[in-house]
Amino acid sequence: MIHTHHYDALVVGAGGAGMMAAIYLSRNPDLKTACISKLYPTRSHTGAAQGGIGAALANLEEDHPEWHAFDTVKGSDYLGDQDAIETMCTEAVDVIVELEHMGLPFSRTPDGKIAQRPFGGHTHHFGEGPVRRSCYAADRTGHMILQTLYQNCIKNGVDFYDEFQVVDVMVEGGVCRGVVAWHVHTGDLHVFHAKATLFATGGFGRVWSITSNAHANTGDGPAIALRAGIPLEDMEFYQFHPTGIYRLGILITEGVRGEGGILRNDHGERFMERYAPTMKDLASRDVVARAISQEIKEGRGINGKKYVYLDATHLGADVIENKLPDIADFCRTYLGIDPVKEPMPIQPTAHYAMGGIPTDIDTQVILDAHGTVLTGMYAAGEVACVSVHGANRLGTNSLLDLVVFGRRAGLAMERFCRTAEMPGIPADPTARTEARFGALLATESGGEPAARLREEMQDVMQDNVGIFRTAAGMQHALDKVRELKARFAKVQVMDRGKRFNTDLLEAWELGNLLDLAEVTTVCALNRTESRGAHMRDDFDKRNDVEWLKHSLAHVEDGGPIRIDYKPVSITRFQPKERVY
Ligand SMILES: Cc1cc2nc3c(=O)[nH]c(=O)nc-3n(C[C@H](O)[C@H](O)[C@H](O)COP(=O)(O)OP(=O)(O)OC[C@H]3O[C@@H](n4cnc5c(N)ncnc54)[C@H](O)[C@@H]3O)c2cc1C
Repeated sequence: MIHTHHYDALVVGAGGAGMMAAIYLSRNPDLKTACISKLYPTRSHTGAAQGGIGAALANLEEDHPEWHAFDTVKGSDYLGDQDAIETMCTEAVDVIVELEHMGLPFSRTPDGKIAQRPFGGHTHHFGEGPVRRSCYAADRTGHMILQTLYQNCIKNGVDFYDEFQVVDVMVEGGVCRGVVAWHVHTGDLHVFHAKATLFATGGFGRVWSITSNAHANTGDGPAIALRAGIPLEDMEFYQFHPTGIYRLGILITEGVRGEGGILRNDHGERFMERYAPTMKDLASRDVVARAISQEIKEGRGINGKKYVYLDATHLGADVIENKLPDIADFCRTYLGIDPVKEPMPIQPTAHYAMGGIPTDIDTQVILDAHGTVLTGMYAAGEVACVSVHGANRLGTNSLLDLVVFGRRAGLAMERFCRTAEMPGIPADPTARTEARFGALLATESGGEPAARLREEMQDVMQDNVGIFRTAAGMQHALDKVRELKARFAKVQVMDRGKRFNTDLLEAWELGNLLDLAEVTTVCALNRTESRGAHMRDDFDKRNDVEWLKHSLAHVEDGGPIRIDYKPVSITRFQPKERVY
């Protein structure tokens, strides 16, 4: 059965970016706004964010949005668009105050201001040393943001469609007309027809085997966009966070190092002093993750194994229990160790997509290097590439990106909806979805389970399209991913029912992950330089002459992936060598 709904504005995704947009849209009582989410809103991955949100509030020492912008540009290895970065760092101050006024319970300084702590790559005086810029609510910052935004959405009367999985976007004649969603509860398809649609569907860390990301982070948004003819920008840049719990990938926030935690190798050496003499353990994430991998490669992992220690034992029980309570809890629960007394075994973990759906500064989706806008479609948050993170994101800048560009999305969509006409619905809007799900159910016996294909994909991506990359390794990964895509055509879905068929949805999500694994690898092979998170052994230097540009990957009608390029916006900060 197919149900049809009509709205002015649709927000797909109830994380930080989506709900911030929904709040702004719902402030106009004449507009009907819906928020569609495959998860119950407060289970979105934003709720897992720990360490903090960056803004140059200068509550504890001198700080300026220009310093924050410089750090972000440098952190991005000069690939971030500087007009967007300036916008984000300037609006940061005001948006934090706004969150506070919405009721967000930030941690406080003794005189009652919002507390701030140092974070990787954030400096004073354009690189001179660490500055306290990360605003936090203990180590539950994302949880607090999500709860605060959800309460405000409820207060404003946003219509929520929880556990509705968006499976297609309706684009025709250069105009977005809404989405098609699968109601998890009933298995019915719903057509959501609207003037303006925002994609705020988060990241895709589940492409890799060791990841900090939740099970739901399967990149549905970018995969749907790609299939609808929308390009993806800078997909070769995927961040590995330095400190995931060994073998589990669960994140240990950079806030631990912000509070003074130290990385040590098997000799007990504070090895970051060799790699980043000024910033040490608080260098940017790409630098620290590479240093850890290098130590492990050269045999200085603990007992020769694939991990090093994050040592917080000198911080004292007070700091750990009060400022990092969830981290202490994770260590006790998952590792059976007490971080007050023992160091934590960590290894880098797949964490954050710098690339995604290309947008302009008002979050409108763009289709090519000339900035041609897809009318009525917007993207914000981790799914989008505006691009404020370039080749490597600084810690605390994602939560900031969500609220700054979520707000800009809400404002831009509200303006658009006031004057735009409702577009028509395409003929047979669910045909493509029915065909795709039909194909997933076609193999009645003898096929392979999605879980097996997923594991093979995650392993090959972890080993070959991770922190250190080579042409041969990436080619091997690409061949394997293509083989898996062929085997996926015969995936076996055991549950043949309609209601809560999570078996079917998981298979559908695996299709998305495979598409994104392929695009990521093709883009990584194509970029013959090293920049930010993209580090190649065979092209180990940054090459601004040939590669100071964004890549845009297109797939038309299931054909091969085509890549073209978009210039980087450089306003104030000329590219320089990066030293921390
Ligand atoms: C463990 C962890 C800790 C982090 N800590 C920090 C930090 O301290 N500071 C910082 O700046 N950043 C941090 N990050 C990064 C940051 O939290 C994320 O990048 C950010 O929360 C993503 O927010 P979002 O709104 O884009 O998406 P999410 O919060 O991931 O929300 C995505 C939403 O989209 C919905 N959705 C997805 N697909 C579909 C679909 N097909 N149909 C319908 N709905 C769909 C989901 O239901 C969900 O509501 C952390 C990330 C992790 C994983």
